[in-house]
Amino acid sequence: MSTIVELSLPNGHKYEQPVGLFIDNQFVKSSSGKTFETIDPSTEEKIVDLYEADADDVDIAVKAARAAFEGEWSQYAAEKRGMIMSEFVRLVEEIRPTLAAVESWDSGKPYSKTLYGDVSELVGTFRYYAGWADKVFGRTIETDKNKLAYTMHQPIGVCGQIIPWNFPLSMWAWKVAPAVATGCTVVIKTAEQTPLSALFLGPLIKKAGFPPGVINIISGFGKTAGAALASHLDVDKIAFTGSTATGRNIMKMASVNLKAITLECGGKSPLIVCADANIDKAVQAGHSGIMYNAGQVCTATSRIFVHEDVYDKYVDGFKQRIKDVSKVGHPFEKATSQGPQVSKTQRERVLGFIEEGKKAGAKVAAGGNSTGDKGYYIEPTVFTDAEDASTIMQDEIFGPVASIAKFSDYDDAVRRANNTSYGLAAAVFTQNITRGHRIAEKLQVGMVWINSNQDSHYGIPFGGWKSSGIGRELGEYGLNNYTNVKAVHVNLEE
Ligand code: ADP
Repeated sequence: MSTIVELSLPNGHKYEQPVGLFIDNQFVKSSSGKTFETIDPSTEEKIVDLYEADADDVDIAVKAARAAFEGEWSQYAAEKRGMIMSEFVRLVEEIRPTLAAVESWDSGKPYSKTLYGDVSELVGTFRYYAGWADKVFGRTIETDKNKLAYTMHQPIGVCGQIIPWNFPLSMWAWKVAPAVATGCTVVIKTAEQTPLSALFLGPLIKKAGFPPGVINIISGFGKTAGAALASHLDVDKIAFTGSTATGRNIMKMASVNLKAITLECGGKSPLIVCADANIDKAVQAGHSGIMYNAGQVCTATSRIFVHEDVYDKYVDGFKQRIKDVSKVGHPFEKATSQGPQVSKTQRERVLGFIEEGKKAGAKVAAGGNSTGDKGYYIEPTVFTDAEDASTIMQDEIFGPVASIAKFSDYDDAVRRANNTSYGLAAAVFTQNITRGHRIAEKLQVGMVWINSNQDSHYGIPFGGWKSSGIGRELGEYGLNNYTNVKAVHVNLEE
């Protein structure tokens, strides 16, 4: 099997899809020759076979990244790194529609969302960190007259990065951009469900001027390639986004050489709707906060706590909003707002949670079933009257499933909102700005939205508390993950 094949997208457009591993700026076969298939979640049919990396390939990629790190990349003038990143952005802009279509095909996301959402996030994140490349530096520290003390922020080295399938391009950019901006080199493993879009970027990486080995992309499975990367002794840092269970495993594996780690794991984020909220806006934000990307969003507000005075109005409004704007359908149809779940496994998992919610006595206010003859589609689903301690209120479902609950006291709402093992994000709707800030201060989460939901910007730190993760990505904070601080003490005594 060749490492690049011609494919026809569902929109009829023909293009060249790399299916090899991208190591040292070239597409190569896996050393075992093993392949795996990626599936179109809207038809359940195979798209293409790809080469599958295992431990040997990870080792080859890490060696390439090490050589690139010790070679020119970390020695380049920082401005030059920024210029190469900017050129990469320019090249991505040129292929935007095809890249978006590849992503939609492989992941099931609606095309308009990948075009204006995911690809824009990739472009914006790279542009943002290209600007940072020559603005990362240490400080001088005043102590006494006979000492000059200063810090240097030096690139940490070879970074292993493991990303999930829900936002393949955004996650790729969140990981790769700050790493290469600071002079690190990377081996990034994409999710086995969505390997195509990152490989499609390979030729642009080379064309933009990244030296061989700076960005290596491998396709493969978690238990083999992912584990080999997380436990590799010559990898200096591991960055992971995915489930909390896998994050725990990665942390253990990374301990073999005390790798620096950042983990962005699961969530069960609350939305609190106060009695004085603008209900229309709170309904819109509640709906998109769980239905966007078919609910496959780590920050999705899956638990909605509504003040008793406005509860009935809110639940009615939410059901109506589903009728008005939730269009479940093929990712390439213009009207579609919600595509299929990414895989059969995910669909079965989400349906399992829905059944469990029904059995535990929660009421189904909307949806509650799979839909369509083929493809992994699930109806937008709303539960009410679920117990706070029940599985659907505690576990991350990662599907289009919201639970709406009633509260009467604000302190109690905050206590219930905090009552999960997660601590990723939370939203509050209120027209009382003091109340909004007070609630934000008490929520045990990494991000709070007041009168909005799911806002994210590459300039603003992203990450969670408790079992939602360790460390922050994005913004200036995100750069700290990729540098080592060195303190230099100079004795000036004569
Ligand atoms: P999901 O269960 O939704 O697929 P995961 O957290 O398992 O989420 O997957 C996120 C990423 O982590 C994927 O790239 C996957 O291949 C990888 N992964 C899964 N298991 C492991 C593991 N044991 N070691 C390293 N990486 C893993």
